[in-house]
Amino acid sequence: MEELSHWIDGKEVKGTSGRFSDVMNPATGEVIARLPLATPAELDAAVRSAEKAQVGWAATNPQRRARVMMKFAQLIQDNMDALAELVSREHGKTLPDARGDVQRGLEVIEVCMGAPAMLKGEFTDNGGPGIDLYSMRQPLGVVAGITPFNFPAMIPLWKMGPALVSGNAMILKPSERVPSTSIMLAKLAQQAGLPDGVLQVVNGDKEIVDAILDHPTVQAVGFVGSTPIAQYIYGRAATNGKRAQCFGGAKNHMLIMPDADLDKAADALVGAGFGAAGERCMAISVAVPVGDKTADALIERLIPKIEKLKVGPYTAGEDVDFGPVITKAAQERIDRLIESGVDQGAKLVVDGRGLKIQGYENGFFCGPSLFDNVTRDMEIYKEEIFGPVLSTVRAQSYEDALNLVMDNDYGNGTAIYTADGDTARDFASRVNVGMVGINFPIPVPLSYYSFGGWKKSAFGDLNQYGPDAFRFYTKTKTVTARWFSGIKDGVALNFKAMD
Ligand code: NAD
Repeated sequence: MEELSHWIDGKEVKGTSGRFSDVMNPATGEVIARLPLATPAELDAAVRSAEKAQVGWAATNPQRRARVMMKFAQLIQDNMDALAELVSREHGKTLPDARGDVQRGLEVIEVCMGAPAMLKGEFTDNGGPGIDLYSMRQPLGVVAGITPFNFPAMIPLWKMGPALVSGNAMILKPSERVPSTSIMLAKLAQQAGLPDGVLQVVNGDKEIVDAILDHPTVQAVGFVGSTPIAQYIYGRAATNGKRAQCFGGAKNHMLIMPDADLDKAADALVGAGFGAAGERCMAISVAVPVGDKTADALIERLIPKIEKLKVGPYTAGEDVDFGPVITKAAQERIDRLIESGVDQGAKLVVDGRGLKIQGYENGFFCGPSLFDNVTRDMEIYKEEIFGPVLSTVRAQSYEDALNLVMDNDYGNGTAIYTADGDTARDFASRVNVGMVGINFPIPVPLSYYSFGGWKKSAFGDLNQYGPDAFRFYTKTKTVTARWFSGIKDGVALNFKAMD
């Protein structure tokens, strides 16, 4: 059995705790590796050496740091297939989808090539007699990234790119279910010229996360994962005086207006609801057709498209639509939630339970399921299912549909399908959700915008990647400087305008 390592000071380091977790191949249900879970003492050693390495890295000029990003981006591109294979093996998503996972992370590294422009300060000449003011953005020091299982490449890259290019050192704690991609990315960053110690990958579970949150040297925590953990991490990090941005779960609705192109809407729902087995924080999990006529016509179109979906292991070829879910526990939870939907009176139109794939009988596969007549009080509506289950909540008017989204606890993404510009505009303006798609089902912003939900989908300040990320990973210092030629001496006790 392969035993994985941490990545400390530019090398693979075996764990010393004697505690391990199993890394599985979800398609076969087999344990493929043992992952060492770090102790607080191992974390402390990693933080101390990151702290030393950060000093030289912060003193490296921004262009040189950006050049490391440039080489890193090229190496990610060159190793795209190997990275995708690692993602698929531990996560289960199809290879094309795994390449997309790497690609959307790579695009953030590409933006980091232009970081010097983002890291510039401001200057005011002659703010008062002989007085100039300037501000600079300085790195925070040692920061941490704690990432979820569902994007093994993209989210670690979202964390490490902006943090590192801004001159910080990072302790990355990837999900214990998909650790290998982060180790490979750390090796590529080293090949790109990142000094040893500036990026440390420390594997572990709650014990190590708590140690990160309590470590006095760690200045900031960027977290992505489920809402209860995001809320917990935000609270503990903030209590300990750290800067924290913690992105959580989602329940994303798509409104389908009576004037929408229903074929396109149905295609979009199938892709956004079932891609990656529904294990995306931007998956559409609730379809909200407006009017019963729209709902009936939509369901009629969805059924054959959903029944045609091919579920299987990533090794079965590129015509597989989606793979298994991450664990047996996730598979059982999804089945239990479907059962609850049936018990609470929703209509199960396509039942994906009990799917067995020949040769992969122990894999964690769930077929696609579609519900109609779901209501707000049902568990399947309230819970983030994080599986291939699409719920339909029928709305009688646009205002009903909008209120449904507005009243939901989560606010990550949402979409509207319509042919009417006024309705689309009204929706984008009024909805209390962070990312909105107009005839676009998964509106993950491009890497030079930024990503973040509202309500219980995000705790803390500023979004991930884009200009916000450079603000999050730097602090502002403002200098007021006076030079005395032509200035009269004198004592000033009052706080007053400089001029
Ligand atoms: P998770 O919350 O279980 O785990 C995320 C990270 O937290 C992992 O590194 C894990 O080791 C750690 N962790 C887990 N339990 C912990 C605990 N009790 N104390 C401290 N640390 C703990 O999430 P997951 O299952 O890996 O990922 C899926 C979730 O992430 C979904 O809810 C999904 O919507 C969300 N997600 C959100 C975004 C976003 O940007 N908003 C993006 C991707 C995924």
